[in-house]
Amino acid sequence: CGIVGYAGPRPTARPDASNGGEAVAVVLEGLRRLEYRGYDSAGVAVVVESEGRPESSLGSSDQVSDQVSEQGTHELRVAKRAGRLARLEEALEAEPVPDAGAAIGHTRWATHGGPTDANAHPHTSADGRLAVIHNGIIENYAVLKAELLEQGVPFTSQTDTEVVAHLLGRAMDGSSGGPVDLASAMRQVCRELEGAFTLLAVHVDAPGTVVGARRNSPLVVGLGEGANYLGSDVAAFIGRTRRALELGQDQVVTITASSVEVTDFDGAAVTPRAFTVDWDA
Ligand code: GLU
Repeated sequence: CGIVGYAGPRPTARPDASNGGEAVAVVLEGLRRLEYRGYDSAGVAVVVESEGRPESSLGSSDQVSDQVSEQGTHELRVAKRAGRLARLEEALEAEPVPDAGAAIGHTRWATHGGPTDANAHPHTSADGRLAVIHNGIIENYAVLKAELLEQGVPFTSQTDTEVVAHLLGRAMDGSSGGPVDLASAMRQVCRELEGAFTLLAVHVDAPGTVVGARRNSPLVVGLGEGANYLGSDVAAFIGRTRRALELGQDQVVTITASSVEVTDFDGAAVTPRAFTVDWDA
């Protein structure tokens, strides 16, 4: 239903950093601005520098993984709850996440699977290294889910979205033919999907990066100073910047704090339409 993404400055090891740092604050602010669309659940995911904790202290519906990547040790942190945004904020207050350079956030309007904590987005890959959020409907999810179940992939929700998390996770771990970067994985998976989707994903191997894609569902990019934004509509980032790009049909975008790259689903670079948001926040 509502989608927000943010990539900003790399986190500093500030002892006074607030819960989730700027990234989580920006994403929660965006989700609040998207509340007018209605929703039944909400969630966020961040890739953070690992604190070296051996075990998760998060609640049952939260997931944690530890992963050594080139930039150091990173882990995925997910918090999601059925109900109002206040419930998500309570969960984050109870189990704060470290300062993060990038974040994704979602408000869900359930189409496949009831409004439960488990069905709330983000959804994660089986290895717990990737999180994805989704607006819309994956029309061919039943066929894809049957194939994944046959290969022994464990499902934890009733959503159509979870197939995307597993397909992306498998593209990233090389089990569907050679390791690829997150944008290439997104292009590869989107070519398999039918229906309507706006997708955002983060992965422990790509700290500070958010990759998005769209087909038959909107996705806009907000261009900031030293930070970039993604949203299902401009309300997601209107408080932060008015410079924006409109993604076209069947396009993939990669944002970091200092870069925005857009391609079609085959990897050819494209130049999206630039516009200025001129309505009042
Ligand atoms: N079809 C997905 C679900 O039911 C996404 C719904 C939405 O657009 O919020 O979880």
